[in-house]
Amino acid sequence: MDKNKAEHKSRLRDAGLKVTRIRMAILDLVMREQRHMTADEITAGLRRERVPADRVTIYRNVDRMIRGGLLVATHMPGRALRVGYCSRPTGPHHHHIVCCSCGRLAELDGCVVRDAWGELKDQVQERTGFDLAGHRLQFFGTCPNCLAAGRRVEPCPDEVHLSS
Ligand SMILES: [Zn+2]
Ligand SMILES: [Zn+2]
Ligand SMILES: [Zn+2]
Repeated sequence: MDKNKAEHKSRLRDAGLKVTRIRMAILDLVMREQRHMTADEITAGLRRERVPADRVTIYRNVDRMIRGGLLVATHMPGRALRVGYCSRPTGPHHHHIVCCSCGRLAELDGCVVRDAWGELKDQVQERTGFDLAGHRLQFFGTCPNCLAAGRRVEPCPDEVHLSS
């Protein structure tokens, strides 16, 4: 068994999910692709690898894996939900960045707003009266490959709402 497979297995188990062929195949695919993908793209990818799974099954598994933190979900208005690979679902808090041009999904080490968190927290608490427990934050822009190829997304749609 290769290293990736062993890691997929332990991640599924850590998330309290049963290890199944479909879940293993989904993790393998999104890890290899290094971009966020729609459930339909995942279905097509699995079909190419001859993993028998219908669309509904894939959707259900993707959903479970998002909730388990194994997949990071990105939402764009009017577009299908996309998911990508998170290498540290139970690891330290961190953030992800998405390329609006090619869909590449990368991870950032640590929390990039850590230094500003105290002030941010105060601001949000003052405005809302909430006692803040944490945040989810996702970045988007144009990746170095797309920049080099002249595929800069400008302006990156600021109406885009991304979660996680
Ligand atoms: Zn991650
Ligand atoms: Zn790109
Ligand atoms: Zn953070």
